[in-house]
Amino acid sequence: MIYGERKVKAPIRWAMVGGGKGSQIGYIHRSAALRDHSFQLVAGAFDIDPERGRDFGAGLQVAPERCYADYQTLFAEEAKREDGIQAVSIATPNGTHFAISKAALEAGLHVVCEKPLCFTLAEAEELRALAERRQRMLCVTYGYAGHQLISQARAMIANGELGEIRMVHMQFAHGFHNEAVELANPSTQWRVDPRYAGPSYVLGDLATHPLYLSEVMLPELKIEKLLCARQSFVQSRAPLEDNAYVLMQYSGGVMGHLWASAVNAGSMHGQKIRVIGSRASLEWWDEQPNQLRFEIQGEPARILERGMGYLYPEALEDDRIGGGHPEGLFESWSNLYYRFALAMEACDAGEHDRVQALHIPGIEAGVAGVRWVENCVRSADQGAVWVDYR
Ligand code: NAD
Repeated sequence: MIYGERKVKAPIRWAMVGGGKGSQIGYIHRSAALRDHSFQLVAGAFDIDPERGRDFGAGLQVAPERCYADYQTLFAEEAKREDGIQAVSIATPNGTHFAISKAALEAGLHVVCEKPLCFTLAEAEELRALAERRQRMLCVTYGYAGHQLISQARAMIANGELGEIRMVHMQFAHGFHNEAVELANPSTQWRVDPRYAGPSYVLGDLATHPLYLSEVMLPELKIEKLLCARQSFVQSRAPLEDNAYVLMQYSGGVMGHLWASAVNAGSMHGQKIRVIGSRASLEWWDEQPNQLRFEIQGEPARILERGMGYLYPEALEDDRIGGGHPEGLFESWSNLYYRFALAMEACDAGEHDRVQALHIPGIEAGVAGVRWVENCVRSADQGAVWVDYR
């Protein structure tokens, strides 16, 4: 159970790049990082517009001289201070992640970067090598990975409750971009422009979320081949897709399917994962995150509720309020951020076993997401053919 007390010895001095006023994701980074006193927001380059960023930082109680015009100045000036930042979160459009993460690691900082980590596998591997060389954490915010029922699903699968795993069905299919909303919405504009979004839209933006949930639940599964078909139903988005289907063949003959869409009209969020075994299936849906469906063949379906004593200990550890009251995205992100803090502390102390024992989306998760998108695009651009996973 979590009561909000700090889990690290001292709060980590922390800054943000991006996540400024009007941004979609900045607030949840701050509310998650600051919730359990693991981090202290002391500096930032919050906005592409320096003036707006400074005003915004002042509203967050960040000292005016530590609200910087850009990330280069942030890293350079903070490095000169005795009480300079130790970690930074990057919540900017995708096209900037590689350069900012690289600069942050080179400045000796721990990094939390938004997904997708970067555009190409070569870039992702460069960041991994740099993080290893500098012995710094590079974490990626696959937010729902911190939800307790994801830990429950992982434990149930590991304990054989589903039998032999046969299929994994995933989707992240919302309807918010069923029309060209980007014409009026800057947060969507960059998402459909390859210069800022990279080689994909919904594959990188949406699909990597349930994909990571599958990696958490099924750590042994390895993709051998995949086939991807992608479409731009709003034509002006081409070559970037607003809908995609991916079929995967895993090691051991397990099959997977992932549907990513921003044009699933009427759907609010539609992020789901269903794992099907020879005996039973599990299903989790982010619109009802406190319930996990457990369906044993031949028996009535069961709904496992978050916070209840019948769950595995690892699914109860991060309870903040017990069963009955809902916990959702904000709590899940908070769980991730306190684990990020513990991982950074352990990394500073050279305790790599402690880092390994924490379930966090680290650099491997970042690299895996970029690799997957690259393979999907390669398949789709050859006309939706099966390709060997590389
Ligand atoms: P947004 O366009 O709404 O906001 C981007 C913010 O970054 C703005 O404040 C902008 O001024 C600032 N910015 C842009 N370039 C900058 C720079 N060079 N230096 C400093 N600030 C800069 O974007 P968003 O929707 O918040 O997405 C940001 C990132 O978060 C994207 O990579 C996106 O994929 C990711 N995201 C992740 C989740 C998740 O669940 N993990 C959800 C939404 C978005």
